[in-house]
Amino acid sequence: MLVADENHDPREAAMTTTTHVAVVGAGPGGLTLAAALQRGGVTVTVLERDDGPHSRDQGGTLDMKKGSGQDALAAAGLLDAFLWHCRPEGQDQRVLDRDGTVLAEEITAPDDMANPEIDRGVLRSLLLDALEPGTVRWGTTVREIRRDGDRHVLETGGGSVTADLVVGADGAWSVVRPLLSAARPEYSGVTFVELRISCVDTAHPAVSALVGRGGMFSAADAKGLVAQRQGDGSVRVYAGFRDALDWPVAAGLSLTGARFDDAVAVRAELRRRFDGWAPALTAMIDACDDAVYCRPLYALPVPHTWPSTPGVTLVGDAAHVMSPFSGEGANSAMLDGAELAGEILAGPDVATAVLRYERTMFPRATVNALGAAEGLDGFFSADGSAHAARRREEMIAEHSRRNAAAQCT
Ligand SMILES: Cc1cc2nc3c(=O)[nH]c(=O)nc-3n(C[C@H](O)[C@H](O)[C@H](O)COP(=O)(O)OP(=O)(O)OC[C@H]3O[C@@H](n4cnc5c(N)ncnc54)[C@H](O)[C@@H]3O)c2cc1C
Repeated sequence: MLVADENHDPREAAMTTTTHVAVVGAGPGGLTLAAALQRGGVTVTVLERDDGPHSRDQGGTLDMKKGSGQDALAAAGLLDAFLWHCRPEGQDQRVLDRDGTVLAEEITAPDDMANPEIDRGVLRSLLLDALEPGTVRWGTTVREIRRDGDRHVLETGGGSVTADLVVGADGAWSVVRPLLSAARPEYSGVTFVELRISCVDTAHPAVSALVGRGGMFSAADAKGLVAQRQGDGSVRVYAGFRDALDWPVAAGLSLTGARFDDAVAVRAELRRRFDGWAPALTAMIDACDDAVYCRPLYALPVPHTWPSTPGVTLVGDAAHVMSPFSGEGANSAMLDGAELAGEILAGPDVATAVLRYERTMFPRATVNALGAAEGLDGFFSADGSAHAARRREEMIAEHSRRNAAAQCT
């Protein structure tokens, strides 16, 4: 159940509750849940291991879809603020083959608000601004969770928190998930190397023109380049390929955390892997900043479900991490959060609310995860660009359908 009316005050319909909800993780899913719960008068604490809202780069731009991410923002009372901050032109998409020939292109109509883009940092700030001060406990890593009667105790490095409901919104490597399921994310066989090109318009105008206002995709021979314009004047590029998880070792590349230690060496490795591709495309490798990251793509087995368990559940990647080729990861994390909040507010009790939420979330996550796996396989195939162009056509049709549906409501 989603309370999607921006102007509706959910406290009017909420069950009276003294429930304390502990949310582990201040990503898009956890923060949407917290904002929607707090809006309904439920006591919520978010425990986040990041030292602060801006302590690490939040990653690339996200499209927020009507029907999922945007509905979740409405439930948190944030749709108008999102529409103010978003970049509709970021929906532009271009698919090129490895020779640089444009196979498909979509230019966004000025009034098209189906999937506008927003930078992750801006989205996080938007969600945080909706919360009462002190709701998020920064620099708090949850290490262990144990049952204590009807409640759970979360142990952090600096003390413990007791809650009636623990929600794991803590991403792919969730510490909450083992309370519900033995499943672990598996390596998909594809790694993204994440590059960033700062001040692209002035420093690299040819790359800027190639990428355009939104996203650019090119794939062949089980390799691909994905470039996305960000709101801060930079372009983020993912150079992806199929290889073993330990390929950096074989290539003589060392890492500190996810960051490569030697940007010159990793650029040379990428040039070798994309040898023979159009110079306009490989120029993105040469143009990148020195901060280069290794992002192996993981996914949970599909379907991933668990028997409903009193006092614990999961939202977002903790429940259903999948490859980014669904385009739904952050959107569905936020929809999970908003729907779980809606069910808790509808009552009559937390256990029933969690059961109803999981019954809706499981089939949705399965459909998205199957689509993500299919998208990944198609993109990293012999003829990935042709596959991407076909998917673009399907997405444009879906896009039009969502727009038409939105105009009818
Ligand atoms: C390369 C790439 C591109 C993507 N592109 C898109 C896209 O275009 N559109 C889209 O919708 N999705 C995209 N996704 C997917 C999207 O990033 C995720 O699905 C989304 O971030 C999941 O949100 P979440 O809130 O579930 O988890 P996360 O965003 O992972 O947040 C989890 C939070 O929990 C915290 N945490 C973890 N463990 C603990 C702990 N023990 N204690 C306390 N805190 C903890 C983390 O610090 C983090 O802040 C992409 C993913 C990747 C890898």
